[in-house]
Amino acid sequence: MSQICEQKSTVHVALFPSSGMGHLTPFLRLAASLVANGVQVTFIAAHPTVSLAESRALSSFFASFPQVSPKQLCLLPFDESSSSTDDPFYRHYEVICRSCCLLPPLLSSMSPPLSALITDMSLISAVLPVSRAIGLPNYVFFTSSAKMLTLFTSFHKIIVAKAMPGSRDHEDVIKIPNLEPIPVSWFPPPLLEDEDNFLKNSLIQNGKSMIDADGILINTFHGFEQDTLRALNDVKIMSGLPPAIAIGLLPPANFEEPHSHPLAWLGDQPTGSVIYVSFGSRTAILRDQIRELGDGLVRSRVRFVWMVKSKKVDQEDTEDLEDVIGQDLMTATSGAANGLVVKRWLNQSEVLAHPAVGGFLSHCGWNSVTEAVWHGVPMLAWPQHGDQMINASLVKRAGIGIWEESWGWGEKDVVKGEEIAERVEEMMRDESLKARAARMKEAARMALGLDGDSGRGLKALLAEVRQRT
Ligand code: UDP
Ligand code: UDP
Repeated sequence: MSQICEQKSTVHVALFPSSGMGHLTPFLRLAASLVANGVQVTFIAAHPTVSLAESRALSSFFASFPQVSPKQLCLLPFDESSSSTDDPFYRHYEVICRSCCLLPPLLSSMSPPLSALITDMSLISAVLPVSRAIGLPNYVFFTSSAKMLTLFTSFHKIIVAKAMPGSRDHEDVIKIPNLEPIPVSWFPPPLLEDEDNFLKNSLIQNGKSMIDADGILINTFHGFEQDTLRALNDVKIMSGLPPAIAIGLLPPANFEEPHSHPLAWLGDQPTGSVIYVSFGSRTAILRDQIRELGDGLVRSRVRFVWMVKSKKVDQEDTEDLEDVIGQDLMTATSGAANGLVVKRWLNQSEVLAHPAVGGFLSHCGWNSVTEAVWHGVPMLAWPQHGDQMINASLVKRAGIGIWEESWGWGEKDVVKGEEIAERVEEMMRDESLKARAARMKEAARMALGLDGDSGRGLKALLAEVRQRT
């Protein structure tokens, strides 16, 4: 009897992320946070992963958290020629969705029985029918900003209202009541195409499904996105949407692989003097732009650590650094020069935490934004695709970074080195950015405390899940 009671009261949550480090990392951080709150966690990872970074991150996480049960969803064979996308990460979403028919036995066999499932927003339309069929509460973890969530949940209605460019009544901005209008030019570019495409279809389906989830967790906090979070939870604006619960910022955790290489160099640099340059885990910058960026960094005379990536998927990024950045830059950045260029995975959060780092040139993937805020590092935003302009607008509005909108999206026009150098210098010498970034860092940490909004949000969520167990 007592064993039954004990089983009944154990809150057991399964987490199911989508592909790419931008999705996996926040799920691993959420898992760590749930464990710290006494929750039993099962982590379902699609197998195989797209990138080496993901399989390494999973191994090092499970080694640090033996109490978390790893489960693999072995993906069904997939004929790539039948895919509607050639992006390896989107293709992986597609295969995971098609493999969701394998979930029922996996979910039903867990012991103690699951209390809830937390699913990535890009998989929710495929997973909800499965969780509903077995009566399992299903929450969504939205791994971008709350502002992106407003677009995510409204886009299917915008399409129906024919308010997009090219249609008769289109406008340059999309108005969502009580929120700042979102310029259409900030939308992920595939959403503006007339033709069907993978991202558009997937976002419409997943956006529609959100209404059937039990709640939406977001890695953000009220001090950063107060107005949006209020509007999302206002029934008059977002009718039918489940509660949007801010649980962030989820702290970068010590299971994330440390790399001492740039840290030794950073240790010799003055406080706040170095800019860290990275476009995340899956953005390949074009060769011409890489050369201009290198030229800009050298011209700026600001010290830098630059993570160079020339292919989307890490295993394919096999070219030598010199072939990618060219001999001139190789010479200019080697030896006693002002920068360090690396062409391999760095523990970004560890780099941003270093006192020598005083700025971050970033594509504004949401995890990069949250890590910059967590460590109080001002940003120079240079969005490349997807949700990144929407995220960059939040950085600019909070006054913790600058965003040169005329640079547009990556892969369009090449931005010249002179211009990059100017903006790098401007950001690095702006004391007001530093002061606001330091205040935002404090606010992020306060939000997680027992009296903070995010700390309370997570506790309330767990109380709800416990009640349903
Ligand atoms: N990252 C890292 N080292 C790298 C590249 C990326 O640690 O060399 C991490 C980064 O800290 C972040 C994640 O990978 O946690 C990338 O997610 P983000 O949302 O910033 O961008 P994405 O890669 O999805 O475009
Ligand atoms: N997205 C989605 N379904 C997909 C792929 C992406 O709903 O199959 C969402 C994604 O999570 C993000 C937005 O569309 O909110 C823009 O996607 P992006 O290209 O930035 O991909 P991500 O790095 O988020 O995977």
